[in-house]
Amino acid sequence: MQHIIDRFISYVTIDTQSDSSSETTPSTEKQWNLAKKLAEELRSIGLEDVSIDDNAYIMATLPSNVDHEVPTIGFISHFDTSPDFSGTNVKPNIIENYDGNDIVLNEEKNIILSSSYFHDLLQYIGQTLITTDGTTLLGADDKAGITEIVTAMEYLVKHPEIKHGAIRIGFTPDEEIGRGAHKFDIEKFGAKWAYTMDGSQIGELEYENFNAASAKITINGKSVHPGYAKGKMVNAVLIANHIIADLPRHEIPEETDGRDGFFHVHTVHGEIENASIELIIRDHDLQRFNERKELLKVLVKKYNHKYDDCISLELKDQYFNMKEKIEPVYHIVEIAKKAMEDIGIKPIIKPIRGGTDGSQLSYMGLPCPNIFAGGHNFHGKYEYVPVESMQKAVEVIIRICELTAHQ
Ligand SMILES: [Zn+2]
Repeated sequence: MQHIIDRFISYVTIDTQSDSSSETTPSTEKQWNLAKKLAEELRSIGLEDVSIDDNAYIMATLPSNVDHEVPTIGFISHFDTSPDFSGTNVKPNIIENYDGNDIVLNEEKNIILSSSYFHDLLQYIGQTLITTDGTTLLGADDKAGITEIVTAMEYLVKHPEIKHGAIRIGFTPDEEIGRGAHKFDIEKFGAKWAYTMDGSQIGELEYENFNAASAKITINGKSVHPGYAKGKMVNAVLIANHIIADLPRHEIPEETDGRDGFFHVHTVHGEIENASIELIIRDHDLQRFNERKELLKVLVKKYNHKYDDCISLELKDQYFNMKEKIEPVYHIVEIAKKAMEDIGIKPIIKPIRGGTDGSQLSYMGLPCPNIFAGGHNFHGKYEYVPVESMQKAVEVIIRICELTAHQ
């Protein structure tokens, strides 16, 4: 267990925060610091074909050790951390034999990780937790995933009696700004399917995510002196207001969960002459997703009819539910599920209310469900990871390799 802790700490203490305002890949120069170290480490544990390209994408191979044909599979993680919270000077705190009580992350600043607020903590009583010191995020998202993959590969190299096909490893920059898959060369990767090790609590197994689109509605009004405006003024603010009021009132993020989709109006700008509404649309179901987009078109048409074509709509698809790509190859989910059950983990299969790099990769031709990496409370100072969960993830990876060779 100390081995996993040491490896994890060696990664999280290197700042790799990504930056969506940057155009380069990786988005921040500092991501190279960990990328180079990882490439070096993959070589030193005995993997082959270790490569790091100009955009800091890392790939490596654990060659097959069986004679029969086995599909090449992959494991993928990202080494950047979220721009939402500082990743500079991460000072991990190790709590052995966790007793279920509140954890004081930072006495000076009175920052407390409380089990009465974060109930999930209670399932880890008796385990070893790694937390922050309250001033940064931890970076278990997704350096836990990287730790697990490297550790599993190292184990397989040292234990040739465990039989497996060729295993490909992929580590990416910039996942947190939605670009982790953008420059991922799936041809070069050459796997039939892969798993992102990027989920949260132990047992998570995900192959459904939202269909996602963004929309911007722009309204051009006509400003006229209000005393003489009858029949002449077109008030863009009020039209924006009508459009928003026509959206389904309860289909919003704060009132939906599970597989219920929503409209989320997140930005409104307005004056009489000009107003805009920016919103996102989310739905797991493709038909309902399309209906939501259609509703926006209908509303814009309705008010264009009334207000002389002063409204325009810009709709952009962002990503799609990977379920469409996973269901035809559902055995890849079954393998992960069986791997968990074989080592005593109860799989938690649930739809992601967001997107993952796996969904983009799935649409690029590499079906890619998501498996737990073990951490909780991502992207903030309350982030923590139980070491036992990381250990279990290592075992899941090893078992998946084994099961694939048996198939
Ligand atoms: Zn992540």
